[in-house]
Amino acid sequence: MTETLVYVGLGANLGDARSVLAAAYAELQRLPQTRGHRCSPWFRTAPIDSSGPDYLNAVACFDTTLSPQALLDALQRIESAHGRERPYRNAPRTLDLDVLLYGDQSIATPTLSVPHPRMHLRAFVLQPLEALAPEAVIPGRGPVSTLLPSVAGQAIERVD
Ligand code: AMP
Repeated sequence: MTETLVYVGLGANLGDARSVLAAAYAELQRLPQTRGHRCSPWFRTAPIDSSGPDYLNAVACFDTTLSPQALLDALQRIESAHGRERPYRNAPRTLDLDVLLYGDQSIATPTLSVPHPRMHLRAFVLQPLEALAPEAVIPGRGPVSTLLPSVAGQAIERVD
């Protein structure tokens, strides 16, 4: 089966966000049919369209033979294992995992939109993505490097 390079966004802002993010990345590394995992540095951001404490965000990438839907299902299982609840839209969440990019594919199904439809608007996606893969291109939007200036007003800092 063909391997595809995928990018996954990780975000946490409740409880011990550092532990949650570290555990989530470890679980991504253990997913079957995946290999070659890498993770960006971590970034701290103020919540957008949400409430609660600051977010910790990162972007991970790996090669996989999982289909897009199987990957989404796996991410949702990891989210659920971290007790994510959705009492209302954009509620603060323990852990948020998004399929950002699936190779250079554009996917639109009732459950999955790839590239993630808002990723090009968010510094907390673009900054870690650029740190991880400066050459990354978002299909339909362009190279990450040309998109970054448009989110320069969003407060974000690298966590060491
Ligand atoms: P959220 O609460 O923002 O994590 O959204 C979760 C919902 O978005 C799920 O029901 C998914 O089916 C849907 N969804 C659509 N596209 C994506 C994507 N690229 N990554 C993750 N979830 C997605």
